[in-house]
Amino acid sequence: MKKKFNNLPDINGHFDQYGGMFVSETLIYPLKELLKAYKKIAKSSNFKELLDSELSSYVGRPTPIYYAERISKELGKSHIYLKREDLNHTGAHKINNAMGQVLLAKQMGKTRIIAETGAGQHGVATATACAKYNLQCIVYMGEEDIQRQKINVYRMKLLGAEVVPVSSGSKTLKDALNEALRDWVSNVDNTHYVIGSVAGPHPYPMIVRDFQSVIGYESKKQMKTLYNKEADILVACVGGGSNAIGLFHPYLNDKVKIFGVEAGGYGLSTGMHAAPLNKGKPGVLHGNRTYIMEDKDGQIQTTHSISAGLDYPGVGPEHSWLKDNKRVKYVSVTDKEALKAFYYLTEKEGIIPALETAHALAYAFKIAKKEKNKNILINLSGRGDKDIDTIAKMSRMDL
Ligand SMILES: *Cc1c(COP(=O)(O)O)cnc(C)c1O
Repeated sequence: MKKKFNNLPDINGHFDQYGGMFVSETLIYPLKELLKAYKKIAKSSNFKELLDSELSSYVGRPTPIYYAERISKELGKSHIYLKREDLNHTGAHKINNAMGQVLLAKQMGKTRIIAETGAGQHGVATATACAKYNLQCIVYMGEEDIQRQKINVYRMKLLGAEVVPVSSGSKTLKDALNEALRDWVSNVDNTHYVIGSVAGPHPYPMIVRDFQSVIGYESKKQMKTLYNKEADILVACVGGGSNAIGLFHPYLNDKVKIFGVEAGGYGLSTGMHAAPLNKGKPGVLHGNRTYIMEDKDGQIQTTHSISAGLDYPGVGPEHSWLKDNKRVKYVSVTDKEALKAFYYLTEKEGIIPALETAHALAYAFKIAKKEKNKNILINLSGRGDKDIDTIAKMSRMDL
């Protein structure tokens, strides 16, 4: 029998050796309560109908698939299609998950929402959903990231969220995640924790994947109805891995090649990157077992990427499983390659992508130069407005 790739996690949240619930005893209860509520509420047809209608009238779904004809012709003999998650309300795929989880929390009777954020995209998406559904919102954010992402901090405040600076560790995303988990332990009664990627303990990697899978389901339909074609190759960038699994999951049992693109930073050999699937090894981080970047003493390594959204030393456990089972190929792209792709798409198609997304683009462009007559579908996970400052500060001569 042919192996199935879409039937995990098991009831304990395992993707074979990956995933699970590596948390303190006090968190087991709320996680189980969340799992129960998820199965009962989120799987009901009432909830699905409500979420679908909110995604359509408020978020702007379905997002289009755009055939990038000009760059397709210039790069070679393949066809490049872009799934336009950048056109979602708040500018990226993050809102798909934030809307789903906040709506679930509301129906669970929670009154207080907490979240972690790195670049601020997930914080903004969560604060947006909380404003809409009238829920208190607290966002944990590393002090370092608060400095780097001032506009998003201000956006969250405008939306009524409280942004709590985190000064522990490297003062970035992984520390914010630790702090949010700590808050949750002491406030589980009235609080739901909205994790922003397919990371964390079970059932989060499954819940976030399910909410993001709308990307892949829409894509399958749209490639047929809009273009009468099937995708041959899928490409998405991988930070925690939520936009990637959202596109990939509905396709896992199909005959399609799949590439996940990690942040190669200054290059894999320099150690200054964020590519745990390429260079890390299995370990435990933020409540699950997965590929992580750690030094020989078991300490989490500092990561580097030009894109804050990919700058994370772990990755969702399902990706670890897909890597080991060779269903998805995980590659990497350096800062410089991503920047070149950023300029290329901007100038040739009039679409300014997020720097995270530029990693997927860079790798897809390499494929397009080699392959003939292939339909390459890229998840355009977000728009580049948030990165304009970073880009403006850099000299293009260095590329
Ligand atoms: C946050 C973010 C990512 C990385 O997160 P994933 O969970 O890996 O999807 C990628 N692209 C954009 C635009 C983001 O905002």
